[in-house]
Amino acid sequence: MATTATEMQTYHNYIGGAWRESASGETFVDTNPAHPSEVLGRFQKSTAADVDAAIGAAEAAFPAWRAIPAPQRGEIILRAALLLEQRLDELARLMTREMGKTLKETRGDIQTAIDFGKYIASEGRRAEGETVPSALPDKMCLTIRQPLGVVGIITPWNFPMAIPAWKTFPALVAGNTVVLKPASDTPLLAVKLVEALVDAGTPPGVINLVTGPGGTLGDALVCDQRVALISLTGSTEVGKRVAELCGRDLRRCSLELGGKNAIIIMDDANLDEAVAGVAWAAFGTTGQRCTATSRVIIHRAALNEFNQRIVAAAENLRVGDGLDPQTEMGPLVNTGRVRAVHEYIEIGQQEGAKLLTGGAAYSDSPLAEGAFYAPTIFTNVTPEMRIAREEIFGPVLSVLPVGSYEEAIQVANATEYGLSCAMYTDDMRKVFRAMRDIQAGLIYFNAPTTGAEPHLPFGGVKNSGNGHRELGSGAVDEFSEVKTVFVSYPPRRG
Ligand code: NAD
Repeated sequence: MATTATEMQTYHNYIGGAWRESASGETFVDTNPAHPSEVLGRFQKSTAADVDAAIGAAEAAFPAWRAIPAPQRGEIILRAALLLEQRLDELARLMTREMGKTLKETRGDIQTAIDFGKYIASEGRRAEGETVPSALPDKMCLTIRQPLGVVGIITPWNFPMAIPAWKTFPALVAGNTVVLKPASDTPLLAVKLVEALVDAGTPPGVINLVTGPGGTLGDALVCDQRVALISLTGSTEVGKRVAELCGRDLRRCSLELGGKNAIIIMDDANLDEAVAGVAWAAFGTTGQRCTATSRVIIHRAALNEFNQRIVAAAENLRVGDGLDPQTEMGPLVNTGRVRAVHEYIEIGQQEGAKLLTGGAAYSDSPLAEGAFYAPTIFTNVTPEMRIAREEIFGPVLSVLPVGSYEEAIQVANATEYGLSCAMYTDDMRKVFRAMRDIQAGLIYFNAPTTGAEPHLPFGGVKNSGNGHRELGSGAVDEFSEVKTVFVSYPPRRG
């Protein structure tokens, strides 16, 4: 049921330990993409002045926060993770209403944040350095980890809890204070993350939240000299801009960006497994995962059978409101994305690709109300076509036939991106060669291109990032710097 303007809740920025209105006095609304007339709440349309206040609060809170022993900071993160666990069902339903993915997927998103919180909390007890011998007598050398200061965190809408948590938790464990700027399609889940951190006991000013337009707030955060690091997950286009602005002042930025991920299916692959893997990775989260499979590179020997089976799988998918437990694919995040995805259907057809299924929004069904788009498959796609090279970020799969392992690898690597790649094969030699040959930060064998584990590094190569990795024990590295210490202890003279 749609929420009326009078009963609509207004959410605030969180700055210096208080929920505050924006200096602009303006708000924007957050709507459900399955039912765009349903409004989840009103959020602050912040300005550079709000970002300035948030950075000021974070800067003021930094000395006291960094002085708290790291194991105690870790305890607060653990409590926040446990609070998210208590609230999991409620948060999953909110997330489905806010950005559309199915309840199974939103539960997974929040569970990832919980698991990572439990894992990274204990990094507060490690924060290990090195102890090494000196080349000189009576001297000892060691390294210690230090926080950076104020960290600016900018996040996308497709993993509204997991990604803000992947960044915020290690930043805080490492002793930094944070200004979080979430995507405008999913401010509510960011509010819920901050509420959990506040309830867990973060002191005022340690975590700050500012909602509103990416360009204005992003520039204010990125260009402020008091911000030591920008950690951004988003599109490659925005990442390049952030890198350029940070580069001017030699300030750090860690970037997790777009992908054009491929599943390679060799002629010896188990086709049942491959079809199931492609269907899940291409159409799960409506193709809006950074690790979504948007290309299948398949040996010609298996092409026809694969095409028949994947088309059947796509046409049998139950598309609908993600709150319905029967639904297998929800809407796109907003109606603007429906137009953006559809443009690529026209591009693909103009380029000469063959549309096997989909290629349209649901204009004459009950789904017409929402941002729904049919699972879409192109075949006879060639590597130079735009639909084979550009990130579409929707339920659109391009099938590229090849004749050999060597050609498959060449085609897989023929994009500017390098986030995730998978290969289905029973041949161990191909597995080890592909492990070496594929240009990607994440490689899967006999499994699709999606999936992360909290204790393993996550990130891409080429234009999918700038070399940093999230998750894993190294997650804290991004948010800290190494200081090398030399201690001399010769016998005291005189
Ligand atoms: P986006 O780049 O449009 O926005 C990301 C964030 O940046 C948002 O908070 C946005 O408000 C902000 N932003 C926009 N303009 C900005 C500017 N000029 N300066 C600073 N910040 C600005 O991306 P999106 O549409 O929210 O998310 C989808 C993209 O994110 C896809 O490209 C996807 O592949 C990528 N992504 C990557 C990963 C990864 O781990 N590599 C994970 C999830 C999503």
